[in-house]
Amino acid sequence: MEMEQYLVQDVLSTLMRHELKVYYQPKFDATTNHLKSAEALVRWVKEDGSIVLPEQFLPVMEQTDVITILDWYMVEKVCAFLEQLQADGITPRPVSINFSRWHLHEEDMPRRLAGVVDAHHLSRSLIVVEITESAMINEEERMREMVAELHEQGFEFSIDDFGSGLSSLSMVADTLPDEIKIDRSLLRKNCEDERERIILESIFLFANRLNMRTVAEGVETKEQLGFLRTCNCNLIQGFYFDKPMPAEGYRQRLINRDIVVEGEDILQIQSETAAVQLLLQAVCMRYPLIIYGNLTRNSFYMMTYDNFTSRGCPSTGSVDDLIAHGAMSMHPEDRELWRGTFCRENQLKLHGEGAREIHLISRQIGDDGVYRRVETSNYFVKSPASEDVLVISLCNNLEG
Ligand code: C2E
Ligand code: MG
Ligand code: MG
Repeated sequence: MEMEQYLVQDVLSTLMRHELKVYYQPKFDATTNHLKSAEALVRWVKEDGSIVLPEQFLPVMEQTDVITILDWYMVEKVCAFLEQLQADGITPRPVSINFSRWHLHEEDMPRRLAGVVDAHHLSRSLIVVEITESAMINEEERMREMVAELHEQGFEFSIDDFGSGLSSLSMVADTLPDEIKIDRSLLRKNCEDERERIILESIFLFANRLNMRTVAEGVETKEQLGFLRTCNCNLIQGFYFDKPMPAEGYRQRLINRDIVVEGEDILQIQSETAAVQLLLQAVCMRYPLIIYGNLTRNSFYMMTYDNFTSRGCPSTGSVDDLIAHGAMSMHPEDRELWRGTFCRENQLKLHGEGAREIHLISRQIGDDGVYRRVETSNYFVKSPASEDVLVISLCNNLEG
């Protein structure tokens, strides 16, 4: 061992005995504002009460594997704290612990972690392993192995500082994290810049589609919070709710969990996806029955059929059957016209001639045996993924 490393290790041991403390920064559910979990962050609290932030002493320790001593110290302290909470009848919440990249090459890290957690009689679901994105570069294989071992031992894995480094989306996805923490550098324009919003929206879409939990880190303003909510971000960590605090403060937070946040003008801050969802809500209110049909492949799928006059129709199947079924529910005098208009052959013919939409008003029988006027509007739509002729049917009750 180098002399310098001895020195660092020596200083660290002294500090651990007296002045290194675990601070906790709570994470809140983005929609309910309930406290869900926390991150453990190291603080050097000097005798005179002044606090040294990790950025001032971690870089030296990170140069060698001395940092792993600190991380294991944090694990021990966090577990002891959670055990004490349990003993006091306070339900502990999961805590994320930062592990430096050196742990990737530590033999048996997941098993060692399990040993400590078990010794404190804690559920393993209470500890989440956080590793920064930049540690993944050139270490994907090792990262994957370690995550598999962590999962085997019942621990969750979180990728920290997502979006700050050079890792690719597929690299992150392949590592199978349970959670990604979106780096606060991605929020620096306060979510008011169109490009910043688009990037964030894409990240959340990516994470949501892969069923990864999302945490936004460094949330300081209500504009950021509002926008993140419309992106379906799961958890919020940041000064807007809480700064990292000593264990005692966090304990109080657990007892008194919720934070009140004032409402937000959603239109100013929402993401495109959220806007499309609102639009869809309005369309569904206007049209109680919406059907997607593939005329080329003779298939359909019913999107909604709330409160429509005639039910009892299958919600998916062939267009031909759908039209036969629909025609039978029409008034005998309207039946042929309806069938002739909406049969596949006719729709394909009209589409071929350049029609963009077809409308028809007819009388349809309801579950109560009464005929009511309904309007069927078919719109031909084009999927970028296929040459199939697709049609969307919007059906509307014209009478109560
Ligand atoms: P990190 O893991 O990404 O932790 C989040 C950092 O963001 C914390 O800085 C936290 O105080 C800060 N933060 C949270 N919300 C806000 C906010 O709204 N605004 C701003 N400006 N900052 C916010 P902190 O505690 O100084 O830690 C810095 C980094 O040091 C951590 O980044 C982590 O990488 C490392 N670190 C901290 N504790 C440990 C540890 O026990 N072991 C290891 N290996 N690394 C640690
Ligand atoms: Mg972290
Ligand atoms: Mg981070």
